[in-house]
Amino acid sequence: MAQKIQAVKGMNDLLPVEQKDFKLTAAFWQAFEDTVNRWTKRYGYRQIRTPIVEQTGLFVRSIGEETDVVGKEMYTFADNAGKTSLSLRPEGTASCLRAVVEHDLTYNAPQKLWYMGPMFRAEQPQKGRYRQFHQVGIEALGFEGPDIDAEIIAMCADLWAELGISEHLTLEINSLGNREERAAHRAALVAYLTAHENELDEDSKRRLKTNPLRVLDSKNPALQSICNAAPRLLDYLGEASQQHYAGFKALLDGLGIQYVENPRLVRGLDYYNQTVFEWTTDKLGSQATVCGGGRYDGLMEELGGRSTPSIGFAMGIERLLLLVHEYGRLNADVVPDVYVMQQGEGSTLAAMKYARELRAAGYDTAQYSGSQKLKAQIKRADQSGAHFALIVAEGELSDGTVTLKDMRGTHGQVTVPAQDLIQTLQQWKSE
Ligand code: ATP
Ligand code: MG
Repeated sequence: MAQKIQAVKGMNDLLPVEQKDFKLTAAFWQAFEDTVNRWTKRYGYRQIRTPIVEQTGLFVRSIGEETDVVGKEMYTFADNAGKTSLSLRPEGTASCLRAVVEHDLTYNAPQKLWYMGPMFRAEQPQKGRYRQFHQVGIEALGFEGPDIDAEIIAMCADLWAELGISEHLTLEINSLGNREERAAHRAALVAYLTAHENELDEDSKRRLKTNPLRVLDSKNPALQSICNAAPRLLDYLGEASQQHYAGFKALLDGLGIQYVENPRLVRGLDYYNQTVFEWTTDKLGSQATVCGGGRYDGLMEELGGRSTPSIGFAMGIERLLLLVHEYGRLNADVVPDVYVMQQGEGSTLAAMKYARELRAAGYDTAQYSGSQKLKAQIKRADQSGAHFALIVAEGELSDGTVTLKDMRGTHGQVTVPAQDLIQTLQQWKSE
């Protein structure tokens, strides 16, 4: 036998059935996609789909060269005989804004957009952390807030409620202020951390040089007291930033949405300012963040567009669905209403016709394919979970009757004129 070829490490197949170490099925996924389609529509957001590959420079410029995502995790390759560097997208915001600027989508009006799809990061795979993972994100472009900041939080809260996982998610918020305020804080932070440099771990020493704000993100228990005592961004906010943040919190309070203020919440990417937030859970180990986002008022301009105040978030679909699978609710029922079987000469074509008739009448109808005996077919019908079965038999073709079987209920098995098929089913269903 030829050797089997396996999937790339950290990249999952979605199957019709659950896998031992990956419980999410394609049907579960699709049910989630349906939920997302309805949810975004309810809020008046419109979908955007961009390519999975972009010029590497897009991510370097928007996400930042010194971030882990761009510095360590991108899948980058040469194209065009080595003349162009391309990368698989590690997140959706850069591509979305690239497209908005390219097509001048915000020329006439602000835009409320959403996207969904695969992202790629070369990370160490573990539960809730993959090399191909998926995100749903929204981007609200051209809104100053803080009303839009609160709207997108409420939007998340509604989705958690619909999926039955509200009690497992905590909203953490912070404000990063504007560029000048961040610069002032950064100077104080660097001075403070430099004074404590020999107490830092290697990772933090590196970040102190490249991206000092990220030191505050450290999960190392030994660094917690240093980080907690570090200069806080909140203390550097000017009046406008304070007002924005206060307005945001007042709206959350008014909407009855609970939150925890986390002055150390900085987010991993360079482009954020003002409001930032994360929804975290204690149910997924160290893969705690299910959804994160914030404002990136300078990003459109940085990508060559007009200055456009903007905010967005992205949620990790795998992490979210692992939570929903274990603690929440999502109806991923793919059971057919009717299972059609055939027996004997001429019955296949007749069965196909009846099956199409049933589908046209709105019944999800699976048909047996093959040439096994009726007994084996009935076993398949049972395995399909179908509520009803239709048996099209050679002997009944000439007198124009078919046999209906109630697989789960109390109606038993009846033979009826073919033209009464739909009507009989309707009656059974309503009883
Ligand atoms: P983490 O700190 O867990 O690495 P992050 O800050 O890198 O997350 P973001 O760039 O903010 O993540 O992406 C938004 C969301 O996408 C995350 O909150 C998470 O739910 C999901 N996500 C990010 N990276 C992965 C991954 N490698 N596998 C699965 N989901 C991911
Ligand atoms: Mg990460």
